[in-house]
Amino acid sequence: TPGTGQAPQVPVRRRTRKLKVGDVSVGGDAPISVQTMTTTKTADVDATLQQIAEVTAAGCDIIRVAVPTNDDAAALPAIAAKSPVPVIADIHFQPRYVFAALEAGCAAVRVNPGNIKRFDDRVGEIASAALAAGVPIRIGVNAGSLDKRLLAKHGGPTPAALVESALWEASLFEEHGFRDVKIAVKHHDPLTMVAANRLLAERCDYPLHLGVTEAGPAFQGSIKSATAFSILLGEGIGDTIRVSLSAPPVEQVKAGCQILSSLNLRPRKLEIVSCPGCGRLQVDLHKLTGQVEAAFDGFPHPLRIAVMGCVVNGPGEAKEADIGVSCGNGKGQIFHKGHVIKTVPESKIVEALLDEAQSLVETDVPR
Ligand code: SF4
Repeated sequence: TPGTGQAPQVPVRRRTRKLKVGDVSVGGDAPISVQTMTTTKTADVDATLQQIAEVTAAGCDIIRVAVPTNDDAAALPAIAAKSPVPVIADIHFQPRYVFAALEAGCAAVRVNPGNIKRFDDRVGEIASAALAAGVPIRIGVNAGSLDKRLLAKHGGPTPAALVESALWEASLFEEHGFRDVKIAVKHHDPLTMVAANRLLAERCDYPLHLGVTEAGPAFQGSIKSATAFSILLGEGIGDTIRVSLSAPPVEQVKAGCQILSSLNLRPRKLEIVSCPGCGRLQVDLHKLTGQVEAAFDGFPHPLRIAVMGCVVNGPGEAKEADIGVSCGNGKGQIFHKGHVIKTVPESKIVEALLDEAQSLVETDVPR
């Protein structure tokens, strides 16, 4: 735990069945993976692969692509072959696209039985094709696509309704001897989503995909997702996550990685320890913090950088940081592990921190 000298606390995971999504394990003792969906037209192979490369660089482990048309299905072999991370085909209405995705070499398929007509009749075929391909299937429900029968029975998309629907879908596959299933139950309300996942975790050992659906724009959606995921992941529930934002997929991935690293469930990369500022400030601290964050974006080594607004509480409070600056009167004191090593003009603070970080990784392995 930072500042205590103790090992970081890590939530104890609920043990689920382990699946392989391509070369990424999901469930069991596998690290919790981060996923997102592309927003390009899947049929546009170049644009889709470009976006996959961007989200992979941001920390995405698994990518999902929508397959609403024949042209999208036809693009799957090229995308599956060239993607650096496993590809999940997201199928809503057409079972034949499930078979196309399996033939294309996709690492998993997401189906929404509520949207596939005569799904029950096709389950056996889908299960045996997926089994032959060694590919898991993600099932589950969003509050918005819940079966009318269950909505009526439960009086709305309650946690019990979501769980009943998901377990019914799983049972269709189980009847055909297929258990390589991941389940997602999603709701736009974080606490309803939490209650549904707790219930599901009690009732089955399938790996769970966490998501707050329609979470909204970046700020609101990140906080709603972090709120729900933190409760569940803190209880050991959840094997893979997707932060759904009305924002580019890279932002969704960054939010997901940040949530996991905040819970010590993923190694931290860049962490900025910065003070909120107060009446002692003599610099534009928020601007400086943004400049430091931008300058270190993509820095390839784990690093904790402190940006403190004054010298009163600077190096002392931030001694857990690898490097840092405490500002005052047009200058910045650059410090390393709590010891001031030089003072630079305010305009040179970011440059000095970059220099210090570089020399630190050349001589030491931070943290
Ligand atoms: Fe205020 Fe200084 Fe603390 Fe920042 S470090 S909040 S400027 S006292």
